[in-house]
Amino acid sequence: MAGEPQDDCLFCKIVAGSIPATIVRETETTIAFRDINPQAPTHVLVIPKEHHRDAAALAAAAPQVAADVLRETQAVADEDKLESYRIVFNTGSGAGQTVWHAHAHVLGGRGLEWPPG
Ligand code: 5GP
Ligand code: ZN
Repeated sequence: MAGEPQDDCLFCKIVAGSIPATIVRETETTIAFRDINPQAPTHVLVIPKEHHRDAAALAAAAPQVAADVLRETQAVADEDKLESYRIVFNTGSGAGQTVWHAHAHVLGGRGLEWPPG
């Protein structure tokens, strides 16, 4: 069923607590934790607790939870006192998606080029 935990999903394991993560925020529907391989001084992943393969699937199946994820990206930026930051949803392997559980990257704390590489 859409949204059910997947045994082979790394981020479902972080939600379940069976893999450790540095959690910075948690709500009823989301968690936010520091990326293990940070690309900026602030690099936090905000994920729905429900499993959806990418942001588009999340938005289609659970738009309220997608809105919760977006609201939490702002809360992460506020906590780290970021005036400017970038929210990234890599969608598809050609765009760099490697974990197939929807997640927003929140990047900040350094200058960010546009367009990205
Ligand atoms: P993607 O490439 O799918 O957009 O992003 C996946 C992100 O998950 C990468 O930035 C990667 O560094 C991060 N990541 C992969 N494995 C782990 C892990 O076990 N713990 C944490 N905290 N982050 C991870
Ligand atoms: Zn998952």
